[in-house]
Amino acid sequence: MSLTHKTAAELGALIASGEVSAVEVAQAHLDRIAAVEPQVNAFLHVDAETTLEQARTVDARRAAGERLGPLAGVPIAHKDVFTTADMPTTAGSKILEGWRPPYDATVTRRLREAGLVILGKTNLDEFAMGSSTENSAYGPTRNPWDLSRIPGGSSGGSSAAVAAYEAPLSTGTDTGGSIRQPAAVTGIVGMKPTYGGSSRYGLIAFASSLDTPGPFARNVMDAALLQEAFSGHDPLDSTSIDAPVPSVVEAARQGDVAGLRIGVVKEFGGEGYQPGVLARFHETVELLESLGAKVVEVSCPSFTVALPAYYLIAPSECSSNLARFDAMRYGLRVGDDGTRSAEDVMALTRAAGFGPEVKRRIILGTYALSSGYYDAYYGQAQKVRTLIARDFEAAFGQVDVLVSPTTPTTAFPIGERADDPMAMYLADLCTIPANMAGNAAISVPCGLADEDGLPVGLQIMAPVLGDDRCYRVAAAVENALESRWGGALLSKAPAL
Ligand code: GLN
Repeated sequence: MSLTHKTAAELGALIASGEVSAVEVAQAHLDRIAAVEPQVNAFLHVDAETTLEQARTVDARRAAGERLGPLAGVPIAHKDVFTTADMPTTAGSKILEGWRPPYDATVTRRLREAGLVILGKTNLDEFAMGSSTENSAYGPTRNPWDLSRIPGGSSGGSSAAVAAYEAPLSTGTDTGGSIRQPAAVTGIVGMKPTYGGSSRYGLIAFASSLDTPGPFARNVMDAALLQEAFSGHDPLDSTSIDAPVPSVVEAARQGDVAGLRIGVVKEFGGEGYQPGVLARFHETVELLESLGAKVVEVSCPSFTVALPAYYLIAPSECSSNLARFDAMRYGLRVGDDGTRSAEDVMALTRAAGFGPEVKRRIILGTYALSSGYYDAYYGQAQKVRTLIARDFEAAFGQVDVLVSPTTPTTAFPIGERADDPMAMYLADLCTIPANMAGNAAISVPCGLADEDGLPVGLQIMAPVLGDDRCYRVAAAVENALESRWGGALLSKAPAL
């Protein structure tokens, strides 16, 4: 099997034992990127020399007798919303074109400390606002399963890179579903850790009370290894949780559900869901039952208003966070010809530098926070948020995990929802509750829809700091389905 088709764990073992060098592994992935990028457009920035330099460092450490960690020398694609001192960082926006951050995000720094080799920066919806990667200022990314379709978003470059075998691992951020939804529609694994379980330091902020970095991989164990490598307490992030967490790698290894109580969220399913998505979801629930889990239906009534509440809270926070892009401090500056005021330069820069979705959200958030409307909109949405957290608490009094389809439909065609924000927002119907309450949630492939042959994801939600439960159930599903299909779901994708 070629190096690009191995798992991250296999590559790490081969490099640690000296059977292959980190440079060979990096070069194989750079070659794959060169071959498929014209079709996929997953990356905004690739720099072969910087990549090979990192790989040479790992090889030198090994040659000097150092014992390497499980992911040392393994290549990774990094979402272009994390700062990187040696690569540009754009957040998919024209307003940050050409910006070179002076520092590494904590996630970036921990990837480097684990010896991961950063291949480049991946495409995303501008400032992580979107579900299709069509809102990138640098053109859309394409789904490797069907190049006329979206790879999900906002972390669509990261999901496509892994699904197209350009990288075994990638990073994402999930504010309302931006890791789980792209994972589901590209047939890979994507995890939103507990809020505060992974650091936001050096992550360009969208909605700070929701933003959560997490891993993408082609299997559950690789995702667990990556999450363990970059998560954990960070004194540089004031909302970082300083508490011991159960090992997610151990949970992924365990992968059994015997005796586990699994709740099916009553509110997610039925009308508005693609039949092929529901068919695979229900089959997977039956599969879990056959593996010894006890399945019950659980009602979470406030989950039905999570989406509208999210579209008040997320834009409100973004309107405040994006005020820093004022033409003075970073990146683009338009109209600074010596005749204009700072205000005029700011207005010209923001008009030229922000795309339509970002402007829509800044306007919506500014309105929701304005003095006359604050209580009616933002205040009300915060109350809904409390109700969602209470629904989760009540549910986890009865069951160990909750399950639902990750997304109502499979990957939709590029352009289909681009002019219809409401249709686009519905892609995150099932994923938003976990962000609103800070819970852990994962998406794991559970089959192909009959109508279009495209991947379907199962979402598994766990309590705050119960990330291990997500991995345990996801690994059980993965093992059972792999024996049924005779291999990973991704191997069913048409070859690029
Ligand atoms: N699609 C959602 C939005 O547009 C979620 C994005 C995200 O999780 N970053 O806000």
